[in-house]
Amino acid sequence: MNIHEYQAKQLFKAYGIPVPEGLPADKNTDLINLLSQLGGQSCVVKAQVHAGGRGKAGGVKLAKNPVELREAAQAMLGSRMVTHQTDAKGLPVSQVLVERTTGIACELYLSLLVDRGSERMMFIASAAGGMDIETVAHEHPERIYAVLINPIVGLQSYQCRNMAYRLGLKGAQTKSLEKIARGMYQLFLDKDASQIEINPLIVTDSGDLLALDAKINFDDNALGLHPDILALKDPSQEDLRENAAQQFGLNYITLEGNIGCMVNGAGLAMATMDLVKLKGGKPANFLDVGGGTNVEKVCEAFKLILSDSNVKAVLVNIFGGIVKCDVIAQGILEAIKQVHVTIPVVVRLEGTNVEEGRALLSDTGLNLYASEDLSHAAEQVVALARGVA
Ligand code: GDP
Ligand code: MN
Repeated sequence: MNIHEYQAKQLFKAYGIPVPEGLPADKNTDLINLLSQLGGQSCVVKAQVHAGGRGKAGGVKLAKNPVELREAAQAMLGSRMVTHQTDAKGLPVSQVLVERTTGIACELYLSLLVDRGSERMMFIASAAGGMDIETVAHEHPERIYAVLINPIVGLQSYQCRNMAYRLGLKGAQTKSLEKIARGMYQLFLDKDASQIEINPLIVTDSGDLLALDAKINFDDNALGLHPDILALKDPSQEDLRENAAQQFGLNYITLEGNIGCMVNGAGLAMATMDLVKLKGGKPANFLDVGGGTNVEKVCEAFKLILSDSNVKAVLVNIFGGIVKCDVIAQGILEAIKQVHVTIPVVVRLEGTNVEEGRALLSDTGLNLYASEDLSHAAEQVVALARGVA
């Protein structure tokens, strides 16, 4: 789960990571009052969306006075922000963060994540901050400094000093970097984060360190332990279909292809997508309907798949282990009728009561193709999606 920058900065503050003075605002906020609370004339207005790249897309504006503040806020609020990290539709802006301006001497990069290769937490630091870190890593790998944390001894002071040195920091800045790194480390552990990124971490005109941007991702699997974090969720920033799927206990992820996939079990779903790809097709989604599937879930799954107008054919691949194939077949028939599915549906069933299941699916008069073999089913759905059945 992602949160907004202003929420991440509130968490930073609680963990001793310095951030600029700032307040969130929506379309009902009295901006003049807000500006006087911040105690200044000039400020920065930042669109609050769950995506980076706002700077280049007009989502970060400097305002020298209340008039410019109102103009900037009005332009952003109610609009959709399109950056290189969003799709073409962008994300809705319903809040902005108004911050006191800061003079920037230099922009650094600092993040903390889980390195899967070493199975450890890893800091990534770079003096090339403010830029797209993937580009820096690609073009100037020597400018990236990575530090692995031993989970038994935790973050060590010498590691912080090394990072400070690599970032070109001196004197009191080294201490402040350690404080920031320790704050990130503790926040990461306490709240089960999966990534914390500060880009840019700046050195101000007066030589202080300040987190000018803040991005935190949380491990979805641990959210049950953190109601305070879950309360920060903003569904407007997430994929509508993925939100709907969560409500029905379906694991659904939107993809870019035209073949809808409905499978039970995550591993089987991945294998099915691979096979579709192998046969020259492109999956429109990942969908795991889970082990204990019933008619209601199958119906909801069809609704989700069909709400994507790119979908030209559907492949259902169910292994009846816990559930019986005839029950699944009934569910599929019911769903096709309820949801008025008209595009071709290829079904491959295997497992308990498979004969009864297949019998139910034959001669239905529907646009339905029962297949005994997965490889053949994948070929068939790819052909049907191309309109060459
Ligand atoms: P992102 O583009 O979505 O990652 O948004 P950031 O918060 O990182 O802002 C992008 C850029 O805007 C930063 O790299 C800074 O150069 C600039 N910026 C952001 N806040 C301030 C500020 O308070 N003062 C100044 N001068 N520049 C800022
Ligand atoms: Mn940034």
